[in-house]
Amino acid sequence: MDFEPHPGHEFRYLTRADVVEAARGVDIVGAVAEALVLHGEGRTVLPEEAYLGWTTSGGAAARCLAMPGALTAGPPPVVGLKTINASLANPDRGIPRSQGFTLLLDPDTARPLALMEAAYISAMRTAAVTALAARHLAVASPRSLALIGCGTLARAHAALLLDTVPTLEEIRVYDTAPGRARSLLEFVAGLPRGAHVTAKAAGAARACVAGADLVVPVTTVTEGYIPPGWLKLGALVAHVSLDDLTEEAVLAADLLVVDDWSLVRDDPRRLLGRMHRAGSLLGPRGEPWPGAAPRPRARKVDASLADIVTGRHPGRRGEADVVVSNPFGMAILDVAVADRVHAEAEARGIGRLLGI
Ligand code: NAD
Repeated sequence: MDFEPHPGHEFRYLTRADVVEAARGVDIVGAVAEALVLHGEGRTVLPEEAYLGWTTSGGAAARCLAMPGALTAGPPPVVGLKTINASLANPDRGIPRSQGFTLLLDPDTARPLALMEAAYISAMRTAAVTALAARHLAVASPRSLALIGCGTLARAHAALLLDTVPTLEEIRVYDTAPGRARSLLEFVAGLPRGAHVTAKAAGAARACVAGADLVVPVTTVTEGYIPPGWLKLGALVAHVSLDDLTEEAVLAADLLVVDDWSLVRDDPRRLLGRMHRAGSLLGPRGEPWPGAAPRPRARKVDASLADIVTGRHPGRRGEADVVVSNPFGMAILDVAVADRVHAEAEARGIGRLLGI
């Protein structure tokens, strides 16, 4: 039964291949940097993410994340939602761990404007945040990169960091599944700058991290294993998978930067949210979790990435500082990149128009 007549409505549908093709014409690091600046100016809307976790029939952890976001610098604003879903058992099935859609909405009618594969943009915008952190927070000439975990995000990081950090000479990789480390090395060898860097697999996480200027954990762990003593003086840790550092490593860092304090604070699962609730991490203004007594060695968050990119915070004080950047992952970055990808797809006739 229909309740009322609907005038026809079409939206653009982009498969992963369409997204990858359209994204060739998009400066993803530039789009992410602009979105970060808008966020710092308060010209974004970023509600708390919705997290649904369950256990699959085979006993693996699975989850669905729904992440809305808007950039209000317009008019018109850019409005969207990313949903990204994952099962830890997928890589063993030979399929990606995570997959989903990003939806863009018409800002006037709130109707769907575009629906596109989410995982490619998600991986590339995350790597772009690391590239910006490396530009603003790493030592002057980072030479070595450690990638712990050799899945989708590791590939995105290897590709983008080789492109954006011209001083890189060495990449060390480690995965608990050695076959994944080997296939990442093959992927690196095939990159345009792959032949100009030394890429090696390390036998353990500690050996991977040792001496690295840039440390990027992209694993699926839920308990920290990187103590402060593993990190070289001057290291920048882009703590992408959010649970790899130990509490001690966060407390010992000379500078602690987050992408969005409210997202970090409101999440009870990952390390920084847990530390805040336990009284060992205070917000940027020194605020404790309501009712939590600050612990004697508690530290505060020093700055947001937007503060760093816009120069409101000077960043590292010296070449020996250990810096931790903890990017929770902001939907506004997916929405900003999706908007550029959609514009490119429209201009080049990529994708299909579907009706509702
Ligand atoms: P993936 O499943 O493709 O790859 C993860 C890899 O880590 C696997 O190869 C696995 O074998 C390896 N691994 C697991 N435990 C390990 C350990 N202890 N030591 C070494 N390797 C280990 O996952 P992905 O899509 O590449 O995502 C990686 C992580 O990045 C996930 O935790 C994901 O949630 C996170 N992520 C964060 C953001 C953000 O903005 N912060 C965005 C996207 C993804």
